[in-house]
Formats: sequence, structure tokens, C-alpha cells
Amino acid sequence: MTHRRIQVLPEHLANKIAAGEVIQRPESVVKELLENSLDAGAKHLTVVIKDGGKELIQVVDDGIGMDEEDSVRSFQRHATSKIATYEDLEAINTYGFRGEALASIAAVARVALKTRTLDDDVAIVVSIDGGDKPRVSREGRNPGTSISVQNLFYNVPARRKFLKSTNTEFRHVYDVIQRFALSCPEVALQFVSDDETILDVKSSTVQERVIDIFGVRQSEALVWLEERTEFLSVSGYIGKPMFGQKSRANQFLFLNRRYITNRNISYAVFSAYENLMIKGSHPFFLLFLEIDPHRVDVNVHPSKMEAKFEDEQSIYRFVSTVVRKTLATNNLVPSASLTAEEGADARVGLRFTPRQHSWPQQTFNPSTGEILSPRTTRISMEQQSVPPTGFDVSEKLLGSSESDLVHSGAERGKPEEVSPTSYPLIWQVHKKYILAQVENGLLIVDQHVAHERIIYERALKRFETNQTATQQLLFPQSIEFSPGDFALFTELHRYFEQIGFAIKPFGRNTVLVEGVPPDLREGCETSIIKELLSLYREYQQAGTMASRDSLAKSFSCKAAIKAGDKLDEAEMRSLIDQLFATKMPYVCPHGRP
Ligand code: ADP
Ligand code: MG
Repeated sequence: MTHRRIQVLPEHLANKIAAGEVIQRPESVVKELLENSLDAGAKHLTVVIKDGGKELIQVVDDGIGMDEEDSVRSFQRHATSKIATYEDLEAINTYGFRGEALASIAAVARVALKTRTLDDDVAIVVSIDGGDKPRVSREGRNPGTSISVQNLFYNVPARRKFLKSTNTEFRHVYDVIQRFALSCPEVALQFVSDDETILDVKSSTVQERVIDIFGVRQSEALVWLEERTEFLSVSGYIGKPMFGQKSRANQFLFLNRRYITNRNISYAVFSAYENLMIKGSHPFFLLFLEIDPHRVDVNVHPSKMEAKFEDEQSIYRFVSTVVRKTLATNNLVPSASLTAEEGADARVGLRFTPRQHSWPQQTFNPSTGEILSPRTTRISMEQQSVPPTGFDVSEKLLGSSESDLVHSGAERGKPEEVSPTSYPLIWQVHKKYILAQVENGLLIVDQHVAHERIIYERALKRFETNQTATQQLLFPQSIEFSPGDFALFTELHRYFEQIGFAIKPFGRNTVLVEGVPPDLREGCETSIIKELLSLYREYQQAGTMASRDSLAKSFSCKAAIKAGDKLDEAEMRSLIDQLFATKMPYVCPHGRP
């Protein structure tokens, strides 16, 4: 390459280059302009776009406005009123601080700014085309600021070409507006696209705003949460697990009101739903994190969509714990209303509505860690397993070691507290479902799925507490494995023992089964071991699940009562009681409702 002298780029060229980082599409312009308006203390915002923002983007606010000197200066690069010293940068409490947005936008579009402070009588109008010299004039208007951005990238054809269809750009703009609408509910907001009013919401609370944006029906599928520590607080909504969504579209994370993306924190939420949702679905969440601004760095990304935390691990743990607790302590069973509904639902005539119903509500006492059920049964978080039923249950079928059954003699003897008052009528249908009459509706339980959940949690508990229960076989049985299965079995031997099997090596590739867990159905004591190994393999291939968890799931699936098993009334009642004593009664370990 021939030698060239170093030059300092002229400002208009530097701005055009910088614009590439800050402004990608109409969406980015809308974001930057809304941030400026909010930083200026606006209480009413109007956004108007034409042609998905490709032709026009206009943001009008009633914020503090600018005087003549500032209004011209605001378009210079690194011109900002928000920070002055390095110390300011360490504790950002405004959206903007880099002083790049207006300079960048004006470099790649035709911009007109009209602004008036409360003290001035007229508004200043500053017009800039593609980074040219600003033209200044005066005009009447109310205090506040209006910025219009026309023909984005008209002077950068390569970029203009990359803009997508009007529809696609509109969607992106809408997404951005939605985020601000959610994080700033106290600000009234109007959004007009191609002369159509898309959104028009008045100043309100988060709760009301969520209804404005998502509608009543969807907002009923959400649960509110709120928790704080000394330096960190989280509040917002999470979706009930049975309303898992096909995409991650409705996942919102705000850090000190700024929308951010953070894979780890999103994963913290997602993982709290593990085993509660069908594979491939994603939970709704709308979470507001508030952290001392000294403990985060938001200056790690030109469009400030990411943040660096001083201690991301503890934030991760905090979020995960709060979400888990919320899921565990809310009544998350779907209720079905048997009305023929219009639309797609009409085909089945059965619609799941996210309504709270009168199924025993559990409340959580955070100071004692106790869960209180309406039958005033006290079940502590740690030993939560089987509530008193007052019934003689078939222990063979439903399985119960002394350590699993926690009912005390006193509780057992109180007939007015037992379950028949909760569901006076109970039926088994197709030897598959249990129907029970509850106060204002009908409870439908899939017997296999329900039993799976019970056994799964019991198995996990045995892993954790090392309390195993084994039932000795009268006649020990030998099993011969293939070499592959034998190797796998050897690897998992201790987990088998923890679940309750008593198995001894017995020559080459052979073992002797001397005892089995009490959960097992009669007759499948040894065949289940081979089935477990093969199911375990499937789970392991499918994902990254921990060995213990895979085995617990395999075990629960194989040991659970099946469709086709007849249950008598006491067994059904016991099954339901035990189900609602599990941590997550509303889905099986695989996420089936
Ligand atoms: P930043 O927001 O990072 O400071 P910008 O380029 O977005 O940089 O804006 C430059 C400056 O212009 C801001 O610091 C602010 O003082 C002023 N400004 C921009 N938009 C508005 C507005 N809508 N109302 C009042 N002042 C504004
Ligand atoms: Mg800004």
C-alpha cells in the first residue's frame, strides 16, 4: 500500500461513522429520542412514524426544552448536559450520557428540532440535513421539544438498502415503544403510525400499564413479585408456567429502568421454570432490577443495551430465588371454563383461562419459611411432602415410607379438616383421569402425570436427605445386563441405592436385586431397572440434565401408576392430596400440565 498521511477526520464524517454504531434503523432513532425526552422530564410523549419510520419519525415531549445556545450545541458530538466529570460517569442516573445520539441522527437524516424552555417566549428551530451546517429560526410553540427525523439514511445508500419492509420496521419501533411504556408507566404515551393510533395510554401504575399493553386476559396469566435486599431490589411480573410461550418475545429486563439484555439473568428466570414448562416454551417475564448505580457499568455498549455488574453471580442467585419462591407459593393451576368460545378455542369447546379459583390457596411466611395451607396444616419448606389425609391409603400403590408421611397423630384425628370437604365427589374416568368436584368447578387430574410428580419429588428428596426406604424382596432376583448397561448401572449404582433399591454385584454383568423402593407397583420390581437405564439414556441424550435428575425423572415415569390402572376412592383422594403437597403440583417432571 502506498504511504498516506494521517488525517483527523472532519466532524461530519466522524459523525457519519459513529452513527453506524448508534443508529441501525428507525427503532434506534425512536429509542434515542424517547430517552432524551424522558431525561428532560417529559410527562407526555407522542411518537409519530410514517412508513415504519423510514420516511418520518417525530417525537414530541413536554420536557424542560433547550435555549438557543444549547439547541445548536446539542447536535455536536460529545455534547451532553448529563455528565461533566468522571465521577458522574460512575453513577449514571439518566438514560443518555454519551452525547452521541443527536449528532449521529443528524448526520444520516434530515432533522428539525423545535424546542422551547419555560422561560422563553418562542421556540428555537434548528434544521440540519445530513450533517450540514445547522439553520436556526424561531417559531411559536408550547414549552417542550419536538424532533422530526426524515428520510433516515438518505445519504448513506448502503444503509438505506438494509432497512426492511415497512411492516418489519414498524414492529421494531413498536417493540421499543412498548418497553418504554412498560418501564415508565407514569408517563402518558401516544403512538401513531401512518395516521393510525396504535397506542394511547394515560399516566398510570405498572399494574394498569401491563393491562393497557397486554390486555386483561394475558395479564391474568401473570404473577406479581417483589423482593429487596440492601443493595438490590427486584419487582415485576412473571408468567404462570402453563402459559409458556413459543418465543422469547415477552421477556423484559430493566436495570434501573433501562431496558437491557442479559443472558445470565434471563437464564436465572428460565431455570426457575425448569420442569414446569413444556420443552421449547419460554416464560413471560417483566422484571425491574434496581441497583445502586455505582455497582453497575452501563457504558459497555454504544446503544447501552448491556450492562456489567459488580457481582453478577449474586444477582443471578437473587433473581432465581425470588422467581422460584414466587412460583412455589402461588396458586398456579389452570382452570378450565367449559364454554364454547369463538375462534380457535371453539373447536374443542374447552378454554383454559388463567383465573384464580378456590383450590386451597397456600400462603408463604417468609420469616419462618412455612407454607400455610387453608386446612391450617403446617408444612415446612424442608419436609413438605404428604399432608394428612385421614384416609387409609393403599401404601403399595401410592408408596409411603415413614419418612415420607409426616402426618402427626393429632392432625390425623381431626375429621373436619380432611379432604372430603374439599372435593365431596370424585370419579375416575377412562381409568386415566380423576375428576373431583371443588367449590366452584371441576378439577381434572391426569393420574399418571400426577403420580409422576409425587414420586419425582420424593426421589429428589431422598437424594438430598439420604433417607432411603427399601422394601426387602422375599426372593431376591438376579438381572443380567449387556456390558454397556452394566457399565451404566455401575456408574449410577449409588443413585439407585438412594432411591431405595438394594442391589449387589453378582458375577459378570449380573446383579442381585434384594430390595426395591416402596413406590413400586407390584410385579415390575426388576423389569423397571432395565427400563430406567434406557429412559435415562434418552434423557441424557436429549439434554444436559444432571444424572440424579435424569434418574429421578426416569424413575417417576416408570414407577408411576399408568393410564388403565383402576383406583378406588381412597386412592384417588390420597393421590390428589399428595399432589397438592408437592412443590409444583401443576405439571409433571417433564412439564406436562
Ligand atoms: P445524551 O443524551 O447522551 O446527552 P444526545 O445527543 O442524545 O446526548 O443529546 C444531547 C443533549 O441535548 C442532551 O444532553 C440534552 O441536554 C439535550 N437534549 C436532547 N434532547 C432533548 C429534549 N428532548 N429535551 C431537552 N433537551 C434535550
Ligand atoms: Mg440521548
